[in-house]
Amino acid sequence: MSLALDATQLDRYSRHIIMDEIGPEGQAALLSGRVLVIGAGGLGAPVIQYLAAAGVGTVGVVDDDVVERSNLQRQVIHADSDIGLPKVESAERFVERLNPDVTVETHHCRLTPDNAESIIEGYDVVVDASDNFPTRYLVNDVCRLAGIPIAHGAIYKFEGQLTTLVPDGPCYRCLFPEAPEPGTVPDCATTGVLGVLPGTVGCLQATEAVKLLLDTGEPLIGTMLCYDAMDLTFERVPYRQNPACPVCGDDAIDGIEAVEYTGGCQVSSD
Ligand SMILES: [Zn+2]
Repeated sequence: MSLALDATQLDRYSRHIIMDEIGPEGQAALLSGRVLVIGAGGLGAPVIQYLAAAGVGTVGVVDDDVVERSNLQRQVIHADSDIGLPKVESAERFVERLNPDVTVETHHCRLTPDNAESIIEGYDVVVDASDNFPTRYLVNDVCRLAGIPIAHGAIYKFEGQLTTLVPDGPCYRCLFPEAPEPGTVPDCATTGVLGVLPGTVGCLQATEAVKLLLDTGEPLIGTMLCYDAMDLTFERVPYRQNPACPVCGDDAIDGIEAVEYTGGCQVSSD
């Protein structure tokens, strides 16, 4: 894509362009950037909103759900009139209204071991805004094999977690070698979630995605940022690459065929 921004873009992105750290080159990088957002729910909503506002030229959205009334307390890109629509369609409508520079690529499906590689391929950054462990492990593994960085976020009631996984840093499996048994970590529908919480965490994920596209700042590599909304505290917890990690360690897998994305989501040794 050419660096030439038109007059409307110079106006729209002027608060980016006047900063030395971004400038017209940085804005052009955002406009040619491709970010895939896994999940158009609580975390995905603010991610999609801010990526689109920032002028990230292509935003892919993967989600198989439809908008429900109980989503609207936190999923800010969906409106009352969208109830019953696929979330990817509602997300696309939202972005069309917000910024005509942005193309939304909708993937109205669940991410599965069969489709993950073909969906993720070709994106510059993946934002994991999913709500379940099998998807997180799948995103980690496929992105690691494809060399694509991930802005990861997760939420639980009043707490959020955030980390950034880059191809030469530790991966999600270095942090959590296995998934908790299904049913042991209840979801938002069971436990509830503070409506503004995913806004905070999703905005931080979008921040990381934008920084990665701009190649500026310090991504949250090897660090888990733990946010507690009740106490309004942020804690940074460092973690290291595990040399025995089956996905990024010394004897890493070269495909996801050996991985069972159920239960502990472990890589079987053959
Ligand atoms: Zn690893």
